[in-house]
Amino acid sequence: MSAPALVRTIAELRDELAPARSAGRSIGLVPTMGFLHAGHLSLIEAARASSDVVVMSLFVNPAQFGAGEDLDGYPRDEPRDIELAGEAGVDIVFAPPPGEVYPPGFATTVQVAGLTDVLCGDPARRGAAHFHGVTTVVAKLLNMARPGRVFFGQKDAQQALVVRRMAADLDFAVEVIVLPTVRDPDGLALSSRNSYLDAPEHERAGALSRALRAAERAGGEGASTRAALDEAGRVLAEAGIEPEYLEARYADDLSPAPSFNGRPVLVAVAARVGRARLIDNVVIG
Ligand code: AMP
Repeated sequence: MSAPALVRTIAELRDELAPARSAGRSIGLVPTMGFLHAGHLSLIEAARASSDVVVMSLFVNPAQFGAGEDLDGYPRDEPRDIELAGEAGVDIVFAPPPGEVYPPGFATTVQVAGLTDVLCGDPARRGAAHFHGVTTVVAKLLNMARPGRVFFGQKDAQQALVVRRMAADLDFAVEVIVLPTVRDPDGLALSSRNSYLDAPEHERAGALSRALRAAERAGGEGASTRAALDEAGRVLAEAGIEPEYLEARYADDLSPAPSFNGRPVLVAVAARVGRARLIDNVVIG
């Protein structure tokens, strides 16, 4: 496949998309922060399969990083990302500098209430401001590219739910598509932040997905959500991992799930392994 067009400004992006738009061709958008892995590529492939023109944004969004988080150290390799994106079928890579997205005087935030207060959004954890940064940049990207479809990964289940809520509430004319988590052979969910892990940490981090599978097994055998979480907690403890959270919540509204009763339950975990903060989840039922 040929090299994608690389654009840095909103005006260039709009110019690049104008012929396709006026010809009525469909546009798919894959928002990323780069340092691509097979999880990102699965979103690109889905976009390629369902859209005439595929845009990938490549933007490490300062607004979704809190003080003391890894904004400066976040892994970056733009040349490699552009090459991988082209191979996977991206037509346009949109890689704006921060000042293009947040020019001087920028003063607007898009906030989804409720869904952003729990799990990663709990004030004692990353906090809701992280999600407000996500919804602000995604709203902007949707207005910049005006895609018919936008693609997200289930690995960031809460993010996907929050974005869906925002798109519905603000009447974005876009279909939000959420795709399954892509994993390493040992089960570890792929993440750009896995690059922070050394080999022993990588092996230890595999306990997150093993813990979720244990919860899934327990749920399948009729355990309560409490008992399933206890099973998962034991797997983490054996690996010496103290979770930031390990919770069962209904997958549609993130309210606490006291039981597996046919309504899909999201079992979600966050934990620090070495200097990486990792998240993973499974939907049961
Ligand atoms: P990021 O670059 O980490 O912001 O991720 C960009 C998109 O890729 C988001 O929609 C993520 O949910 C998605 N993504 C990240 N990791 C995975 C994975 N392991 N499997 C599937 N999608 C993923």
